[in-house]
Amino acid sequence: TRVVTLARRPAGAPQPADFALEERALPELGPGQLLVRNAWMSVDPSMRGRLEETEKHYTTNFRVGEPLDGSALGRVLDSRAAGVPTGAWVRHRLGWRDVAVVDAATAAVVDPGLAAPADWLGVLGQTGFTAYVGLVRAAELRAGDAVFVSAAAGAVGSAAGQLARLLGAASVVGSAGGARKAALLVDELGLDGAVDHRAERVRDGLARVAPEGIDVYFDNVGGDHLVAALESLRQGGRVALCGMISQFDAEQRRPSIDHLIQAVLKRVTLRGFIVRDHEDLRPEFERRVAGWLRSGELVAKQTVADDLGSAVTAFLGMLRGANVGKMLVRLDPS
Ligand code: NDP
Repeated sequence: TRVVTLARRPAGAPQPADFALEERALPELGPGQLLVRNAWMSVDPSMRGRLEETEKHYTTNFRVGEPLDGSALGRVLDSRAAGVPTGAWVRHRLGWRDVAVVDAATAAVVDPGLAAPADWLGVLGQTGFTAYVGLVRAAELRAGDAVFVSAAAGAVGSAAGQLARLLGAASVVGSAGGARKAALLVDELGLDGAVDHRAERVRDGLARVAPEGIDVYFDNVGGDHLVAALESLRQGGRVALCGMISQFDAEQRRPSIDHLIQAVLKRVTLRGFIVRDHEDLRPEFERRVAGWLRSGELVAKQTVADDLGSAVTAFLGMLRGANVGKMLVRLDPS
């Protein structure tokens, strides 16, 4: 089968030549295993950290010469696992390859009748779940809150902005890079205001769209966005620290920690979270989000690249903002 491997560790920003598309033999299918033809795979910011040797990460680092991995969704071609029939759709962790031999214990059967298969990797998958956990648990969102979401046109952000509203926020504003994305936040996702972080300083934009301040900041970006949010937060505000994609880029100035005095003065709670610690919320999340998707109250945004051969381009593009919504790679068009 075709796989994408890590050819070498990147020096600075990752380049296409750091990866290789190779042919690899599949292992024999053993007891408790599934042969899966991947239909879709996800590319995620966390994969950027996993390319590094030393980065302390919450999951394993990729190994040079070995295939990458990550979330994927596919059809079972052959099964040696009780309870998972041939033909079932499964979500699992062996992306970056066309066909995978998957331990059934690490796979979850999903219902394509409940939502489009790709949604199980996007708004109904880890992406949407991250948004839900961040709002409900890390930010302890309350009815009437004024919410700011960064990278709000991205995968987690486009879900977080819409979910904040559905969960009772009084107003939701977001930031994104470029005029097209900023317009989309208001026109297609129903946000109340948008900051284009390429066209204006975030603190100026935030002061314009949320002149009375915010109660909750959902942080996907870190850096200047976090500083601007700390300035805008009201007394007792809450910050869900989800990710800091701006900090992958060593060129970007890291803001001074002195800004945290704002958290002291305003009794702000900053809470980091990792989505996988909150599986207890998964059933209510799936039930509610599937309902909102069906009713049309929640829009699932995605950008799709075709074929494993374009997965690296999709990944590197996502890191620079080439995506609207969830960046996915379609591995099997049938
Ligand atoms: P996105 O779909 O949001 O893609 C990344 C986006 O980041 C780009 O589209 C781009 O949008 C924006 N971006 C890139 N560089 C910068 C920069 N320097 N300044 C501002 N924006 C930038 O990715 P995901 O939705 O998958 O991930 C969003 C965040 O959530 C990431 O920080 C990720 O690490 C985190 N995450 C955390 C999890 C957890 O458990 N805590 C789980 C999953 C994700 P634009 O063009 O608008 O700038």
